[in-house]
Amino acid sequence: MTDFSTLTAPGINDLHPYVPGKPIEELERELGLSGTIKLASNENPLGPSPLGAQAAADVIADINLYPDDSGYRLKKKLADRHGLRSQELVLGAGSSDVIDMVARSFLAPGRNAVFSRYSFAMYPIYTTAAGAQCRVADACPADHATMPYGHDLDAMAELVDGDTRVVFIANPNNPTGTWLTKDRLYAFLQKLRDDVIVVLDEAYTEYVTEAAFPNGVAWLAEFPNLIVTRTFSKIYGLAGLRVGYGMASAPLVDLISRVRHPFNVSMPALAAAEAALEDVEFLRRSRDNNDQGLAQLAAGFQTLGLDYIPSAGNFITVNLRRNAGEIYQKMLENGVIVRPVANYDLPEHLRVTVGAPAENRRFLEVLERVLAP
Ligand SMILES: *Cc1c(COP(=O)(O)O)cnc(C)c1O
Repeated sequence: MTDFSTLTAPGINDLHPYVPGKPIEELERELGLSGTIKLASNENPLGPSPLGAQAAADVIADINLYPDDSGYRLKKKLADRHGLRSQELVLGAGSSDVIDMVARSFLAPGRNAVFSRYSFAMYPIYTTAAGAQCRVADACPADHATMPYGHDLDAMAELVDGDTRVVFIANPNNPTGTWLTKDRLYAFLQKLRDDVIVVLDEAYTEYVTEAAFPNGVAWLAEFPNLIVTRTFSKIYGLAGLRVGYGMASAPLVDLISRVRHPFNVSMPALAAAEAALEDVEFLRRSRDNNDQGLAQLAAGFQTLGLDYIPSAGNFITVNLRRNAGEIYQKMLENGVIVRPVANYDLPEHLRVTVGAPAENRRFLEVLERVLAP
C-alpha cells in the first residue's frame, strides 16, 4: 500500500489541524446532557444580528444561483464605511480565509512568517501549509505589568530576516485578549522593512473601547505592505455563515485575490453582512453585554483567587495553576463548554467567552464547584 505521506507537498506532514471549540450537540450526544452552554468559540451570546439573519433568510429562495463573485455591494458598503475604494477590499469566507490567501500568495519553502507565542492558532497552520517556516517570538513575560503573555514587538522585529515575507499580529490577540497601543504598533510598522507584509488581524476590534487602541485602517495609506483583516463572525454574530474581509493597498489586494477561491462568500453570507453592518443597535447591545460580562467574570475570578489576563476581547483567559485539561473535562460533565488552551502552550489556563449574564454566572458556579478540593 502506498505511503501517501511520502507524497505530500512541503509542510503538510508537519500540520496539526485546528482544534475548534466543542459543539453543544456533540457534548450532549456523548454525555446524554441537555441545557449545555458553550462559552468556547468567542461567538456572540446575543445571537446573530437580527438584521443580518433576516437578510440571509430573504435570499434563501435564490440559492440556486451563484453568489456575486465580486461581492460588489458588500465591498461598496465596506469601502464607504472605512473611507477606502472597492479595489482596496477583498472578501473571505471568514477572515481566516483572507489570512490564508496572504499565506498562499507570499509564503513558500525557504521563506518564513514571524508571529508571537500565544497568538492565533491559524497562523502556524497557514504558514506550515504553505511550506514556509514559522518564526515564533517570545511573548511578554507572565508577570508583565500591563500585557502578560502579549505580543513583544521588539522580539518579533528581531526575528525578521531576509527570508521573512509575512508578520502576523492579532490586535486584540486571541487567546490572551492582550492588545497593542497605537503608539507601539505604529512605531513597529515604521521600523519594519516595507517588503514584509504585515497582517493586522482585527477580529475583535469592534469590542474594544480603550482610547489608545488603534484602528489599523488609518495606516493603510502610509503602509502599502499592511493588510488589515476584520470579520463578521464575532461581534456581528455571523460565525456560521463565514464572512470576513481584508483591507490593503490595491496592488496587494490584486495579488492576494489571485488565489481566492471563486464564489468564496456565499449569497446568504453576503446579504447578511451587508445588513449587519447597519445594525447599530445590535452592536451597541453586544458591546454593552461584553463590557458587563468582562467585569462580571473578572470579579468572579477575583473572588475565587484566580489570576486572569486582562482582556479587550469578548473572552478572558484565566490561570488555574493546575492541569486545566482536567478542569475543562469536569466542566464538560457539568454542561459548560469552555476552551482549553494547552495547544497554545498554556496548559494551566482556560479561555472563556463572555456570555449572557446568566451564562457567566453558571460558568463561575461550575468552575468554583469543580475547583473545590
Ligand atoms: C475568530 C478569529 C478570527 C476570524 O475567524 P473567522 O471566523 O474566520 O472570521 C481571526 N483571527 C482571530 C485572532 C480570531 O480569534
